[in-house]
Amino acid sequence: MNPAVDLAPLFRFVLVRTSHPGNIGSAARAIRTMGFARMELVAPHRFPDREADALAAGADDVLAGAGVHAGLVEGLAGSTFALGLSARRRGINLPELSPREGAAQARAAALRGEQVALVFGNERTGLENDELARCHAMVRIPSVEDFSSLNLSQAVQVMAYELRMALLGGEAPPAPPEHDHPPADAAKMERFYEHLAQTLDDIDFHKGRSPETIMLRLRKLFQRAQPDERELRVLHGILADAQRMATLAGEGRRG
Ligand code: SAH
Repeated sequence: MNPAVDLAPLFRFVLVRTSHPGNIGSAARAIRTMGFARMELVAPHRFPDREADALAAGADDVLAGAGVHAGLVEGLAGSTFALGLSARRRGINLPELSPREGAAQARAAALRGEQVALVFGNERTGLENDELARCHAMVRIPSVEDFSSLNLSQAVQVMAYELRMALLGGEAPPAPPEHDHPPADAAKMERFYEHLAQTLDDIDFHKGRSPETIMLRLRKLFQRAQPDERELRVLHGILADAQRMATLAGEGRRG
């Protein structure tokens, strides 16, 4: 690969709530063999751990550099495109991609200079709906129906391999940027969703209905739009005004 267009540093592998430290080690090895280096761990059950070191088999640099975070949003900070790996379709309506399609889209995002996250779930429970809701698409490795779940680190290996193939095959000219400004990162999007949820509450939008469904739907809408920071500032401004009007209306009723 031409080192001038080495996109690998733009990719991170995010392992969420991993139970077995051995899987963290094996995942580090899988990542390292395919030319990637960045791993982010969200609430790992045990880390650092001797088992992780043993199974990394020399990919110590990946383990040593791994960030450890309390929540997924922190693990995604700085990234603007996230793919959630899941063996099963969840209750959430996300586009479903094959690893190859996912790798192609991830490469296109990286060519636009975006940071990309590949998100993997817990060994037993996988990714929860609210974790998948923070991803732009879901990737399913097409395993057989009646035994669909791969070992975590093997799923990491499959995805890392497809990404490497996509990057190696990358002779096509860089995709033209789709955005005037880069999309806002996961942390800024999260702050916006919090503001939006709070505002809907303040203006009594829900009227007794559950806010969860509508918030998931709104997340999907804004994920698709990929607003940039300036656009988010306008939206925050609108929400702040709506909140101000709601407060005034409340005072009017009381007065
Ligand atoms: N019972 C869990 C399986 C978890 S396996 C579930 O149904 O989701 C641990 C992780 O490995 C998953 O969260 C996912 O990120 C990845 N994984 C395993 N099998 C996969 C598959 N067939 N396609 C995509 N990801 C898979």
